[in-house]
Amino acid sequence: MQDYRPTFEKLAVDGVRGLQPYQPGKPMAELARELGLDPSGIIKLASNENPLGPGKKAMEAAQAALAEVHRYPDGSAFTLKQALAAHHRIGAECITLGNGSNDVLVLLAETFLGPGRGAVFSEHAFAVYPIATQAAGAMAQVAPAFLPEAEMPYGHDLQAMRAAVTDATRLVFVANPNNPTGTWVESGQLKDFIASLPAGVIVVVDEAYCEYAEPAGGPDATQWLAEFPNLVVTRTFSKAYGLAGFRVGYALSHPDIADLLNRVRQPFNVNLVAQAAAEAALADQEYIAESVAMNREQRTWLQGELEALGLPVLPSAANFLSFGLGDRAEAINQGLLRRGVILRPVGGYGLPGYLRATVGLPAENQRLIRELSELLAGAA
Ligand SMILES: *Cc1c(COP(=O)(O)O)cnc(C)c1O
Repeated sequence: MQDYRPTFEKLAVDGVRGLQPYQPGKPMAELARELGLDPSGIIKLASNENPLGPGKKAMEAAQAALAEVHRYPDGSAFTLKQALAAHHRIGAECITLGNGSNDVLVLLAETFLGPGRGAVFSEHAFAVYPIATQAAGAMAQVAPAFLPEAEMPYGHDLQAMRAAVTDATRLVFVANPNNPTGTWVESGQLKDFIASLPAGVIVVVDEAYCEYAEPAGGPDATQWLAEFPNLVVTRTFSKAYGLAGFRVGYALSHPDIADLLNRVRQPFNVNLVAQAAAEAALADQEYIAESVAMNREQRTWLQGELEALGLPVLPSAANFLSFGLGDRAEAINQGLLRRGVILRPVGGYGLPGYLRATVGLPAENQRLIRELSELLAGAA
């Protein structure tokens, strides 16, 4: 086939030309195809999904909603927004729904960024921030992270982030806790940071993993929404709520920010089945409690086992652990894949010596440790 890349690259807008696509965790079926493995023997601990599977109530609601899929979804998602508003004790006009919170992050970039403008985020922060920034043609204003020997190795350094803010800055992204490091920022420090920002800079606190944080309720930036009109908090149904495949996330903000985001949003960006499932999942807080309890216990166990293997483990307030293997990381990752264990390499996040493991079911975590110990012992 003729190579049209030079032609079309020239036609693409500046931001898109230099873009590297997001690298998702390898799907189980893909690994099975590539290596001729039995899919049932594969475990995926690569995308921070809830290992318990979707909650029963969410599944029932999704099943029931299927009967209506000849209809367009409610573009304003009235009942889901009412449920979220009650859950967060906030007005429904403060909510912007997204096709995953990824969608909301892109809406923020489309609304507030563009050539000549910038977004501040930390080194080793969630990959969608640089992608959304660059796709909007804006400047990535990357703040150095804490050093490896710090208390929060590779974590967000809020002082460095504050120093990276310039007159061009429109957005600041803070992931709390951050993916792929698992590190977090302390509540009081985060509040001081938000207060220190100019009123014309919008700060986005991405709380994709907040349900897992301790003590229960964790770092909850939504409590400051009334105080800071330039604060946006994003949440998702993809992690603790166990609905990654349905793609539902949302932003909470001042209604005047929500109004702008909703102008850019595609009218039917959250599908009908997903809206029903998310509403039922929100009501099923027992499932969340069970998920969080299992994660707490299993993360502690997994961290202990990784450390017993002599591996440095980054502190995590989430449902995953990133651990260091130095220059063995790539070989060990390949060895694990051959044995049917999918982890996430995080070289793309500036951490080439690390692998990230989602905390799975007890049997999955035991399997990971077993395979990893054998590989480290040289039995690869
Ligand atoms: C997984 C993740 C998200 C969003 O995922 P969605 O499925 O798009 O809601 C957002 N931020 C961070 C830090 C994440 O790890």
